[in-house]
Amino acid sequence: MALSKIIGHDKIIARLNALLTSERVPPALLFAGPEGVGKFLAAKEFARTLTCLHKPPEEPASEENLFSSLSGPVLQPSTLSLQPSIEACGRCASCMQIDSGAHPDVRIIDTVFQAALLQEEESRNLKVDTIRELCRYANQTSILSARKVFIIRDAEAMVPQAQNALLKTLEEPPPGTVLILTVSRKNALLSTIMSRCYTLDFTALPRTALERLLEAQGITLDEAAALSLLSQGSLKKAADLLKLSDRLKGAPPLDGMGAFKMSASLPKDTHRARHEVGILLDLLLAEARNRWAASPTDSKKPLSALVTKLLALRRMTAQNVSYALILETALLESEKLGILPKNIIKTGDSQ
Ligand SMILES: [Zn+2]
Repeated sequence: MALSKIIGHDKIIARLNALLTSERVPPALLFAGPEGVGKFLAAKEFARTLTCLHKPPEEPASEENLFSSLSGPVLQPSTLSLQPSIEACGRCASCMQIDSGAHPDVRIIDTVFQAALLQEEESRNLKVDTIRELCRYANQTSILSARKVFIIRDAEAMVPQAQNALLKTLEEPPPGTVLILTVSRKNALLSTIMSRCYTLDFTALPRTALERLLEAQGITLDEAAALSLLSQGSLKKAADLLKLSDRLKGAPPLDGMGAFKMSASLPKDTHRARHEVGILLDLLLAEARNRWAASPTDSKKPLSALVTKLLALRRMTAQNVSYALILETALLESEKLGILPKNIIKTGDSQ
């Protein structure tokens, strides 16, 4: 995998390439955008390029020869994207160690790393002790590569105290250090963090890009099309839907008992249960809306009523209401109009 092979974010990749070729990589970058669109993958590939040991010899571009007519034709910032890209070789010790997760100079800071560091169960927040450890690493000399890269994955998980602990390192990063924060909810970050980062805004993946990615994973053309329609440009959402759809294929018929069994089989962990109920409600909503759009005017009424009910239930998932009850109600209401979750992914694109 190389930076140039990332699908669906051409402008951002061009921007990253421009930073690499101009040798002006900001010490702190923020990759912001919806969940599951490739922010982390882009961060990892950018880190690979920054630390690769076999870069082709290049002349560092100074401010003059980038923007001044003294060294030839004037290069406007927009033409930066046309410069040759710098690629990681994919074969050197540095490139290989990024794949194995063992690179001494590239660290991924997330809740999994934290659980191992603090020797405790994985939690949903990134704590101040974890960020202090990152700052300590940042002050050490790099071992293999010329640069050290830290990727804080889902940086919104940092508690405010942890964000405050990061400020000094963001403001005065040790030489050769690059921090990349990926975030899907920018408003969870302190404004002081945001203002110290160079932000790149990722958008949802275009449908065709998502279909190509799904097909590359061995998913049939029809299923890829149906999934990309339902997953709003998020590969993660598509993967969640696929997992759920496989589970639903073996589900009992949705009479009252079936709905009860399905809600009883929700994960015990509240966070995961909420997530699963959210996906199921999204599926039912998407199908109800599709049918509404395809129905003649005189038969739209029950479908609009169902959409309204499902939206109300969707909002309830954010409150302290039993997820099992929300799911049962949604399934039974949808079933009255013949909408069954297990058929949606197969038929999602047929409307
Ligand atoms: Zn390399």
